[in-house]
Amino acid sequence: MKIQRFFPPRRILMGPGPSDISSDVLQALSRPTIGHLDPLFIGMMDEVKALLKYAFQTENEFTIPISAPGSAGMEACFVNLIEAGDKVIVCRNGVFGERMRENAIRSGAEVVLVDDEWGQPVSVSKVEAAFKANPDAKILAFVHAETSTGALSDAEALSKIAKQYDALTIVDAVTSLGGVPLKVDEWKLDAVYSGSQKCLSCVPGLSPVTFSAKAIEKIQARQSPIQSWFLDQSLVLGYWSGEGKRSYHHTAPVNSLYALHEALLALYEEGLENAWKRHADMHQKLKVGLEGMGFKYVVDEAYRLPQLNSVYLPEGVDDAATRQHLLNEYNLEVGGGLGALAGKVWRIGLMGYSAKSENVALCLKALEETIKR
Ligand SMILES: *Cc1c(COP(=O)(O)O)cnc(C)c1O
Repeated sequence: MKIQRFFPPRRILMGPGPSDISSDVLQALSRPTIGHLDPLFIGMMDEVKALLKYAFQTENEFTIPISAPGSAGMEACFVNLIEAGDKVIVCRNGVFGERMRENAIRSGAEVVLVDDEWGQPVSVSKVEAAFKANPDAKILAFVHAETSTGALSDAEALSKIAKQYDALTIVDAVTSLGGVPLKVDEWKLDAVYSGSQKCLSCVPGLSPVTFSAKAIEKIQARQSPIQSWFLDQSLVLGYWSGEGKRSYHHTAPVNSLYALHEALLALYEEGLENAWKRHADMHQKLKVGLEGMGFKYVVDEAYRLPQLNSVYLPEGVDDAATRQHLLNEYNLEVGGGLGALAGKVWRIGLMGYSAKSENVALCLKALEETIKR
C-alpha cells in the first residue's frame, strides 16, 4: 500500500458551504496547539464568546461555539429545550425544516407541522393559525435562511407571534449569521444555532449557539435529564463559564477555535452592517450576470437570500457533468439541488469570504464558457 501526503487543490467554493477561507484564518489554524485549560487559551475563549455576542447581536451570557458542526447545534437546541410531551410547532419549507421535525420527534415532542412550499418563506399567517389552534404549544422552531432553497423567513415576525403565546423559539441561523441581518435580542429569539463554515468563513466543525435567559430557565426547570450527555448544555456551561470555574467537560478543538477567533475578528473589524451590505452587493452583481445568461431564480426577489442563489438549470444542461467540468477546469465548486430540487437547480453560494467581486466574475465567466460548449 502506497499512500502519499494529501495536498488538496485550491478551489473556489461557491456552493452551500463550506465557503472560501482566508489565508489569515488558515494561518491561525496552524499556530501551536496549547492545552485547552491553559490560562492563555481560556482568555482567548472569552474573546470568542464576546465576538460571538457581537455577531449574534446579543447580550446572552450563554453564547458559545459547540465543538461539532451545525447539525450538533441544531440537536443541542432540541434535546435541551424539549421534554417528552411538549407541543412544538415546527415550520418546514425545505430540507433543514424537515431535519428540525426529525429532531423534535426524537426529543419526544408532540409536533404540529406548518408546511410551506420549497422556495417559499415560512408563512407568518399559517404560524399564527397554528398557535390559535394550539395555544399550549411551548416552542416554535423555524429556519431563518433555508439553504436548500435560498429563501429567507421573517424571524422577527415569527418570534413576535411565539411571544404572544409565551412560547420559546428555536431558530436555525446556520446560513444567516454574518450574511443577512440577524438580531437575537431585538427580535427576542431564544435558542439560536449557527455553523462556522458558511458566512463566517471558518473551518467546518463548530456550531455557535446562543440561549436566552428564558431558554436557560426552561432547561433548569426540566423534570427529566437531557438524554444526550455530550450536548447537555448545563454541563457545558461549567466548562465555558469564566476563569477559575473552568472544568473539564471535553477537549476543545483548540486549533479550530483559533480559526474561529480569527474569522470572528475579521467580521468584527469589517462591521456587521458592512458585511451584510457586501453580501447584498455581490448578490446584485451575480444576479445581473446570471439573468443575462437566461438563468431564472427559484425564490421571489422579496425573500431571496443574497448568500445563496438558487437558479434553475438551463434547458439541456446536464447537472452533474457540468458541475464536474466547472470543478476540473475552473477549480470552481457550485452546489447541486437537494431533495425535490435535485437535478433541477444549482445553488450558487456567496458566503463570507467567498462574497467578493473576483469570485462573481470568475463564476459568470466559467458558466458562460461552459454552457456555450
Ligand atoms: C449547513 C446547514 C446546517 C447543518 O450544518 P452542518 O455544519 O453541515 O452540520 C443546518 N442548517 C442549515 C440551514 C444549513 O445551511
